Amino acid sequence: AQKILIVGGVGGGATVAAQIRRNNQDAVIMLFEKGEYVAFSNCGMPYYLGGTVQDRDQILFSTEKFAEKYSVNVRTKAEVTAIQRNEKTVTYMADGQENTENYDKLILSPGATAIMPSIPGLNKARTFSLHTIPDMDKIAKYMQEQQPKTAAIVGGGFIGLEMLENLYEQGITCTLIDRSEQVMNPVDSDMAALVHSYIKEKNINLVLHDGLKKFTNDGRTLHLESGKTVEADLTIMAVGIKPHTQLASNADLSIGETGAIKVNHFMQTEDPSIYALGDAVETTDEITGAAKMIALAWPAHRQAFIIASHLNNEHIPYQGTIGSSILRLFDMTIGATGANRNSLTANGMSFKETTIETLSNASYFPSADKLWIKVLFDAKNGQIYGGQVVGYAGADKRLAILSTAIKGKLTVFDLQELELAYAPPYSSPKDPVNILGYKAASMLKK
Ligand code: FAD
Repeated sequence: AQKILIVGGVGGGATVAAQIRRNNQDAVIMLFEKGEYVAFSNCGMPYYLGGTVQDRDQILFSTEKFAEKYSVNVRTKAEVTAIQRNEKTVTYMADGQENTENYDKLILSPGATAIMPSIPGLNKARTFSLHTIPDMDKIAKYMQEQQPKTAAIVGGGFIGLEMLENLYEQGITCTLIDRSEQVMNPVDSDMAALVHSYIKEKNINLVLHDGLKKFTNDGRTLHLESGKTVEADLTIMAVGIKPHTQLASNADLSIGETGAIKVNHFMQTEDPSIYALGDAVETTDEITGAAKMIALAWPAHRQAFIIASHLNNEHIPYQGTIGSSILRLFDMTIGATGANRNSLTANGMSFKETTIETLSNASYFPSADKLWIKVLFDAKNGQIYGGQVVGYAGADKRLAILSTAIKGKLTVFDLQELELAYAPPYSSPKDPVNILGYKAASMLKK
């Protein structure tokens, strides 16, 4: 039987193990996870901290159950420290001892680490990042014991905004600080402006275009580059992640221009016996063709399927990532799919864009909510490059339609043709996506 070793046991690692087992009852599968838990739901952690998910066990998966269900030999608290490609072995540390294990195929899904910048005066007892279960537990313990009244969130991406919601909902006075001009980089500045107004309406102190320079007062006072100061009992650092590439680079596997592991369409590194997936790999942006590092759960799961299929002699190429992403901020939904203004401009692609402000469904129906949808498209033939939504009810549905349209290589003319199902609680006879299509198509007529 083939012996397959997997490094990393969460988003990509646990998924690929399960997928391989579905295809192949005979393979010997061994999974190494340096942490204590496998197959947990990282995405649920902000909601546990906010109390929406009340029971910690709901986002954890029992290692024993996982091992039994998929018949995988799981080693937790086992860190793989080196790969010997010529011998086809790995070295790992467990219980303070170094061991080796041989493989036929090796799969790397080591993920990434949250960046914790070394800022003068930073006090680790009140400044946290959120990437692992121990990180989550530390924040939960601090919140319970110290009952913080004020919090600063540094970084206005997904994790920063999810933490903002979850801290604010517990009555904590929040400041959100971002070095750039806007929160949520996947959306363009005009869409982000709607989010900024919404954040301010909540009486959240939003500080943009300003960076954190130092802490004083035992880590309680944040000094910004502008000279402003912010007081915070608790600081969340959500300034980005760095892929774990050391194992791969020490084994002379190529690292791409984005700093993540280089792989081919079948997720193989340059050594055909070694695959890699998830946050640690570089993929191709399906729209612009540029190299990209995208840390989202969908790519990790799709890549797990590609690898398991390849091991089963089914050659299904990974098509690249369009980067569909979505976030809830209180009642607001913010989402993006495909390329945005910045990525199209950076790649020299000529495009047009249009946005409509509309209602989610029939205006006379009580649940009608405001909705903004945007499409970016090829200036000549109208092929859809990207879509963005900001709104409340029904925003996620419109984002899903636009991402399906991109995958299907539809044009803005096709958006007019979509028959999307209408009754007053859901839509209007012409769905907002149809109207967006009419408006965009009219921009291409001579
Ligand atoms: P991970 O799931 O991080 O797993 C990597 C594992 O490898 C880690 O457990 C690590 O301990 C282990 N490891 C690393 N090196 C070694 C080694 N040498 N030996 C043994 N083990 C090792 N994505 C979405 O699409 N939607 C969301 O809403 C969303 N929310 C998120 C919220 C949070 C708070 C976080 C942190 C992430 C969120 N993500 C979300 C991202 C998503 O969770 C990741 O993209 C996905 O988990 C990637 O899977 P992975 O296997 O690459 O990495």
